Amino acid sequence: MVTREFRERYRARTAFVILATTFALLFGVVVALLAMDQHRVLEASQRLQQDTIPQIIRFQRLARNLEQIRQEGERVFSATTPEGRQQSLFLIMLVASHPSILEHPQSAEAARDAERFLIETGNLASGDRSQISQRHAEWQNISKRLSLLVDDLSVQGASLATDDLNEMVAVMQLARAKLIGALILVGGFLLLLILLLNRHLIRPLQRIDQTLSSLSVDQPAPEFPDARMAEIHAVEQATRRLHDSLAANEAARRELELLANRDGLTGLINRRHFMVIADAELQHTQGQGRPAVIALGDLDYFKRLNDTYGHAAGDTVLQAFALLLEESFRQSDLVCRYGGEEFAFLFPDSTVEQARALADRFRQRVADHDIRLPDGLLIRVTLCIGLADASKSTIESALHDADFALYEAKRLGRNRVIVAAETA
Ligand code: GH3
Ligand code: MG
Ligand code: MG
Repeated sequence: MVTREFRERYRARTAFVILATTFALLFGVVVALLAMDQHRVLEASQRLQQDTIPQIIRFQRLARNLEQIRQEGERVFSATTPEGRQQSLFLIMLVASHPSILEHPQSAEAARDAERFLIETGNLASGDRSQISQRHAEWQNISKRLSLLVDDLSVQGASLATDDLNEMVAVMQLARAKLIGALILVGGFLLLLILLLNRHLIRPLQRIDQTLSSLSVDQPAPEFPDARMAEIHAVEQATRRLHDSLAANEAARRELELLANRDGLTGLINRRHFMVIADAELQHTQGQGRPAVIALGDLDYFKRLNDTYGHAAGDTVLQAFALLLEESFRQSDLVCRYGGEEFAFLFPDSTVEQARALADRFRQRVADHDIRLPDGLLIRVTLCIGLADASKSTIESALHDADFALYEAKRLGRNRVIVAAETA
């Protein structure tokens, strides 16, 4: 069961290694994609520099040469002198055999056709006007073809750059989208990390901290929501165990305290404990200038009772007497089993007279009270009580005085209450 529960939880280190690895992989992939895009942009710009721009220049030169052939062709027709015509024809032959034209088949063919046509025209220069104007009309077609070729070459050259630039723009746009994606990924991961840290580490740690700082046996056992982190779960379990052991220790301490402070037979507080709390109470009462009385009570002829009815009967009488004591005095009055069949009292806030009346009422109550022995027999006991004013004396000296008064009560015949001052 413990093992199964444990498996359902994650070790913090494992969870964060998984998260960090996933993030590193995703981030690595995005960075690799960005690097590829950057490489494509570099390639495109290199191509633009090394191939496309020279190619454009070639196309421009070619277009310029073809245009020159066309213009010189026009001059062949418009020349007024044979020298001028020859000069144009010479230039046409020169340009038509230029390598830039020869390496472009379409241009080479057009230039060749124009050259051939114009040379033939030049040879007919002395022919009649109608033949010349017919050739001029034919030349218009060739000239138009050259113009179209020039336009075409200009457009081709421009589009070469446009293609490369378009590709670069497209790649850059893609790279920008990927970069935004990468930033969103990083932001999302950080957000997720913060949320997970907060939910599975920080908040549970805060709860543990609060629980530990207010851990007390007076509080119910701490409750924690089911932690997903094994380490947190272990600390919570340890906190619960700590509370349990604190509660067990406190219960044991209270039981021990009870055993140490109480008399086993009667359940009354014992002499040692009485001396501690009565002393504190007396000092408190005296500190406030209030009166207090100390008393000692002793059952009469208890030895004889033991001898007559047995020790167990004596115990029963002591227990019954203790019950009577508890019923007869206020909560604030302290009563203890001082030893054997002797009992001590502290009456705070009582004058000697009030205490004497109280003690005498009790003495009478005891004397009138039937006690049933274990064998069913009903008996009665009496007691003597010695009182001493404790308003100004220490507890020891008041007890000493009360003991003296008690001794006096015995001497005077028992079953009576004597105040120490009266004997002084
Ligand atoms: P007095 O009237 O002068 O007080 O006489 P007494 O017999 O009461 O006084 P004494 O001191 O001679 O005897 C006290 C007896 O109380 C002796 C002892 O056996 C008995 N006793 C003390 N503690 C217990 C107890 O826990 N149980 C029983 N059954 N007897 C006890
Ligand atoms: Mg005695
Ligand atoms: Mg006695």
